Amino acid sequence: SIILGIESSCDETSASICIDGEILSNVIANQAIHHQYGGVVPELASRVHQQNIIPAVHQAIVQAKINKNHIDAVAFTRGPGLLGSLLIGTSFAKSFALANSIPLIEVNHMQAHILAHFIDHPKPTFPFLCLTVSGGHTQIVLVKDYFDMQIVGETLDDAAGEAFDKTAKILNLPYPGGPLIDQHAKTGDPKKYKFPEPQIPELNFSFSGLKTSILYFVRDQLKANPNFLIENMNDVCASVQARIVSILLNKLKKAADLYQIKDVAIAGGVSANSGLREGLIQLAAQKNWNVFIPKFEYCTDNAAMIAIAGYYKYLNKDFVGQDVAPLARMPF
Ligand code: ATP
Ligand code: MG
Ligand code: FE
Repeated sequence: SIILGIESSCDETSASICIDGEILSNVIANQAIHHQYGGVVPELASRVHQQNIIPAVHQAIVQAKINKNHIDAVAFTRGPGLLGSLLIGTSFAKSFALANSIPLIEVNHMQAHILAHFIDHPKPTFPFLCLTVSGGHTQIVLVKDYFDMQIVGETLDDAAGEAFDKTAKILNLPYPGGPLIDQHAKTGDPKKYKFPEPQIPELNFSFSGLKTSILYFVRDQLKANPNFLIENMNDVCASVQARIVSILLNKLKKAADLYQIKDVAIAGGVSANSGLREGLIQLAAQKNWNVFIPKFEYCTDNAAMIAIAGYYKYLNKDFVGQDVAPLARMPF
């Protein structure tokens, strides 16, 4: 079967072709327009999706070297995400399905981040645990089957990606700051500054206290030395990153012990973070886990993960009608 996947939940317009579970193309159009505003502007995002969607789908078809008439189904992100952005992908998918008389498949974006692990080998075996860390979510998910997933822990306030991006803002780094903190952290001392680890019950997370403590810390340091950030940027980034990573991995360890699970994965944009990737590999060696870390192109938003999720739904003939509408919030 040939599946066309469409992703448009935030500020990446993406299209992908999947043949029998294998990804043949994954075209991602990023939206540079938001950088000048220091964050995604929803109204602008949906307009740029509208400009990018047809070229992205065209490119995905050309790169996969297939004929558009041979596509068997179209899978799209129904939610969660920005409603205006989701509407563009949803409307395109509906029109494409209608025009070509093929079935339509809805995909949950957060499930798709996890199912990105089924693109390449080795694939995790059920049940496994996935720490999904992205711009809008931080979840520990017990994955029992492709579409049988249970959230066993989540953030009570900010997401891990938000913690990175908001810290970057405090440090006067441009948006999106997560990858820049990662870059600076590479040559910094992670033990130089100690930021607090919140004491949150069970498998849940909180990042808003950390953000406030970084804000006050930087403010106080700048009062004493106006060049503080220029002189210590790498050490501050390394110390903040080390704390975010330790918060995430301590809860993941707790979850793996509680559920007695040895197959552990990470997913979502923050799983591109080198500190998290290295920390997980070290922890896995200690705990004898099999770890699954996505390729960089499958960490942040992409349509390959939508196409692969669509492929597994296609096998189950799990289709939706033309009356489907996008959902800004969408539970599993
Ligand atoms: P959601 O998936 O929750 O709807 P989203 O789709 O906007 O949110 P993703 O595209 O999965 O999120 O991830 C984007 C986030 O990942 C941003 O917060 C970004 O800063 C963060 N990020 C990307 N690369 C890195 C990195 N190397 N280190 C830290 N954070 C990173
Ligand atoms: Mg994005
Ligand atoms: Fe995402």
